[in-house]
This record gives sequence, structure tokens and C-alpha cells, in this order.
Amino acid sequence: MLPNFDHMLNALIAAPSISSNTPSLDRSNLAVLEHLGNWMEDLGFATELMPLPDAPHKANLIATLGQGEGGLVLAGHTDTVPVDESKWDSDPFLVMEKDDHLHGLGTCDMKGFFPIALEAASAFSAGQLKKPLTIVATSDEESSMAGARHLLACGKPRADYAIIGEPTGLMPVYAHKGIAFISIILQGSSGHSSNPELGNNALDSMHRVMGELISFRQNLAKQFCNPAFDIQMPTLNLGCLHAGDNPNRICSKAELQIDLRLLPGMDTAEIIQVLETQIQRIIEPCGTTLTLNTHYPPVPPFSTDLSGDLVKNLAAWSGHAPGTVAFGTEGHFLQSLGMQTVVFGPGSIDQAHQPNEFLARDQIGPTEQILRKAIARYCIG
Ligand SMILES: [Zn+2]
Repeated sequence: MLPNFDHMLNALIAAPSISSNTPSLDRSNLAVLEHLGNWMEDLGFATELMPLPDAPHKANLIATLGQGEGGLVLAGHTDTVPVDESKWDSDPFLVMEKDDHLHGLGTCDMKGFFPIALEAASAFSAGQLKKPLTIVATSDEESSMAGARHLLACGKPRADYAIIGEPTGLMPVYAHKGIAFISIILQGSSGHSSNPELGNNALDSMHRVMGELISFRQNLAKQFCNPAFDIQMPTLNLGCLHAGDNPNRICSKAELQIDLRLLPGMDTAEIIQVLETQIQRIIEPCGTTLTLNTHYPPVPPFSTDLSGDLVKNLAAWSGHAPGTVAFGTEGHFLQSLGMQTVVFGPGSIDQAHQPNEFLARDQIGPTEQILRKAIARYCIG
């Protein structure tokens, strides 16, 4: 009934589904969902396509096997990051196997998870399951997380447990930091550089802001620390600055973009509000005006209880102690839907977002076996 793993992986990789903030690179994910939907319907799943309200060429897919409440969700995103084909040794949209590595854009992050989840699911019939098995495929994880936000807004899926199959090398991940990209824009006015009174220099004002950001960062690091992370404190990176046009003009506008990564337990909205208030205060004497934007709604930090049943079982079945990672996931959104959520999947993040991305073939079998155990445990009992 189900095509073999290689056939499925090939079909998913051959369907480009880049999501990007750059509109010319951004693609639909519907072709990927069509493959997944067909295979899952053949396995007896009931499928529901959920187009995004603001982007109908993008959608989530929720597929359910079995009836009732609770059960297990296996979740992943269908989109990939953009690709620079000139840096690849092979066609990124064709799976190329070399030394037991399956190369292709999205093989490890994370289209490869779906055929493994389907193979695991194919061992079960709807009649066997006492609680439903749900497979969720989202859009736009790599850009706006609009797919996961839409799931949360719709209040589904509901289940007791969720596994997000991002590449963790089969380590159960119970926490990661949040991510916020913030633009700080200062507006002054231009004039001839020979007389500072003729304008209001936005770069002078930004200099104060940068000093304030650095002391804000130092204060965060003093107040918050979590030894579960390699980088134990929250981070605030001054990433890029665009300002002015000529040495002999007073700079009228400056924009600084920062990356703020907060620890689990920290309230992102509240901290951004405090930051904005402090910047406002520091530029007050300058007379420049402040606009502060987040590029997207921030991705909140994620953490799940280390003593939870799913974390403990995934650790026992995989032989890997639970840990944390430095990348962001849809974890917060599934957790907020009431599911005990763990990030756990095949492949290494070291190969993600890189030319020649690959999934090692030896990850497939162990992942499938562990997913079967999870389905048996949480959908049959
Ligand atoms: Zn991913």
C-alpha cells in the first residue's frame, strides 16, 4: 500500500517548498502536502487540509488514524530554507545517495521525517488504536511559523503527546530558547554637516541606543541563567545597522536590527516592552523618534517537564539523555495546544541549512522503531 521509503523521500524532495521572507524565493507547500495526503489516505487516515487565511497557497495538513480523544501527534514542517544551487555538488531537488548519506534539500530538515513516520504508522490499523494517531504537516516553519500559529488559532490538533521530528540525532529535546528579530528605527532630520544645528543626527542618537542595549544585555545575563543550555544566558546580538548616505550630510535615519534569544520562563512580550521603554527614555534628550518592530511575532521559548512520560520514554528507547538545542522549533505552539511535546527526530542540525544537506541512512531504522514504540504506548496503551 505505502510506496517504499526512497520513493517517498524522492517525491518530497522533488517538490520545492522553500519558505522565505523574500517573496521571489517563497514557494507553495501544497505539492508536498498532496503527496503526504495521498499516502496517508491510502493508510486509512482521515485528512484535513488547512489553508492559511492570509496565504491560501500555503497550508497545514492534519491526518488522523483511529477515533477518540488524546493519543499521539507526530509533527513536522514541510518547508525548507532557500538554496544556493551553485554551492551543491548535486541537484538539491533530487535525492543523491553517497556513502549511505541521502543528499537533498530538506532530507534532514525535515522532509525525511515524514516517510519514516508513515512507515511506522503503516504497522497499525485504525481498529487497533484505542486513541488516535495524528500526523501534522505544517507550512512556513523556516520563515514566519505561520503554519503553527494557525494551528494554535484553530485550537487543533488536540492530543496528549506530541513528537516534533526535527533533526536532533534522536536526542529527546525538552527545551530551547525563543527567538525575536527586532528592528529599532530612529528618525532624525538631515542638513549640511558643517552645522549640527541644521538637522538631528540619527546616528548620534543610535550610539546612545547601542550603549543602552549592551547594558540591557549585561543586566539580562546577570538576572537569568539556565545551566541546561550551552550558552546559559539570554543573548542579544547587534546584527546590522543601516544609516545615512554621505559624510557631509547629517544622518536623518538609522535602523539597527537585533536578535534577542530568551530562556524558557522569560516573557518575550514583556521584555521587549521594557526594552522599548528604556530606548525611548535614552533618546528623549536627542529629539529623534523611535519605531520598534519585530520582523514576525517572536517565537517563544519552549520547555517541557523533564519528568514527563514522553521525555523519559524517548530517552530510554533512544539511549540518549534529554537535552536542549540552540535552534527554534514549533514546540511552543504544540505545547500551548495542551500536548506534552518533545522535539525528537533523525539527522543532525549540523547538516541543516547547508549545501549538500543529508540524512544518514542509518538514522532511518532506529527512528521508525522508536516511533512504533511511541504509537503502541500512547495510542494502544
Ligand atoms: Zn526544521
